[in-house]
Amino acid sequence: MPVANAHVVVIGAGVVGLQTAVTFLENGYDVTVIAKHVPGDKSSEYTSPWAGAQWRTHSTAQDFELQKWDLASYTRWFQTVDEEKKKPGQATKSGLAKFNNVVYWTEKDEEISNGPENVWFASHMRSFEVIPQSSLPKGAIAGARYDAITIDTTVYLAYLVDRITALRGRVIKAELPTTNGLAGALATAARLLPVYGVNTPISAFVNASGILARELVPDSAVHPIRGQTVLVRGVPPQLRTIIRGQGVSYVIPRAASNSTILGGTKQVGNWNQEPDDATTKWILESCKELAPELLNEKGEFDVLSVNVGFRPGRTGGPRLEVEEVQTEAGRFVVCHEYGHAGAGYQLSFGSADKTLGLLNDHFEKKLTRAKL
Ligand SMILES: Cc1cc2nc3c(=O)[nH]c(=O)nc-3n(C[C@H](O)[C@H](O)[C@H](O)COP(=O)(O)OP(=O)(O)OC[C@H]3O[C@@H](n4cnc5c(N)ncnc54)[C@H](O)[C@@H]3O)c2cc1C
Repeated sequence: MPVANAHVVVIGAGVVGLQTAVTFLENGYDVTVIAKHVPGDKSSEYTSPWAGAQWRTHSTAQDFELQKWDLASYTRWFQTVDEEKKKPGQATKSGLAKFNNVVYWTEKDEEISNGPENVWFASHMRSFEVIPQSSLPKGAIAGARYDAITIDTTVYLAYLVDRITALRGRVIKAELPTTNGLAGALATAARLLPVYGVNTPISAFVNASGILARELVPDSAVHPIRGQTVLVRGVPPQLRTIIRGQGVSYVIPRAASNSTILGGTKQVGNWNQEPDDATTKWILESCKELAPELLNEKGEFDVLSVNVGFRPGRTGGPRLEVEEVQTEAGRFVVCHEYGHAGAGYQLSFGSADKTLGLLNDHFEKKLTRAKL
């Protein structure tokens, strides 16, 4: 249950912070988002605009909690697509679209150790089927197809801001300093809010600072997982993926903007912001067989941009945890919510629900203690 008049300040306007703000607003809280980067900004410190993005689980068969979070977004995104009566390949107002996802594996990995028919998510996917061996392309040892969702990130992030505003939340663009640690950042936030006309006392913070949690907390377990992708013109009829051991080739259609993301790399610990030409060439060549419909008369893709983003990896997985922090401006409760690596979109609903539960529990315990 929300606490009457509770005001939650979310640090971060990536997909994690924005979805968390929406979830708290929908549950009766007052919410202010403070962020250095907001939708529309492009920075290597701000991951969300650079994502593919698609629903494709990264959870293992043992990650029961993360599986639950993955399935929350699968269900809710399909609800939106169904409510707006969208056919495959048609975008919703929020930039979502359903596509059949064709996935091939070139070697036996952990995910398909018991066969592609026994991946943990098989029974949860719409239209899941194993591709017969006789229909596999050269080099593939297994394949499956199922209905999935793609997300046009620019449209989706702007939609989340609109939801926040419609629910009477606010988004403030401001950087919180990291020089005096988390306590210094929280004290600055507390001093800053009245400057923006927000005078409601702060009940709790949510720290959804993504890769910058490395400096803000500071948390040295947070590290970059570099992703280079290429945006090309046109939309293929399917979402397609080839999983090649440690590497992966994918084509993610963006139905809302007649474009497609080709990928990609996952380079742990690599901070190089510049696109690497050899990688671009490899991505373009390896995706030709996945999206032949998009090749021009010269047999090449029409390249719109080459992009680099840093997934907020974290040793041990996402951190969702409540902590109390003493600052110059008072003692504050913070729920950390960062480290979603390559799955921040698909984990966003479940992660926000969990954060809501953690802060609700915290407030209830405090109320009970106060009554004793
Ligand atoms: C190439 C690529 C492909 C991807 N594909 C997918 C996919 O298909 N599906 C999927 O689910 N995910 C995908 N991801 C992962 C996804 O993009 C991330 O997990 C997600 O964007 C992380 O969101 P976030 O809100 O935690 O961080 P961010 O988007 O980085 O947001 C962090 C926010 O915190 C703010 N902030 C930080 N420090 C401060 C401070 N001191 N003061 C004020 N504000 C601060 C920032 O300004 C920003 O607003 C992909 C990522 C990449 C790079």
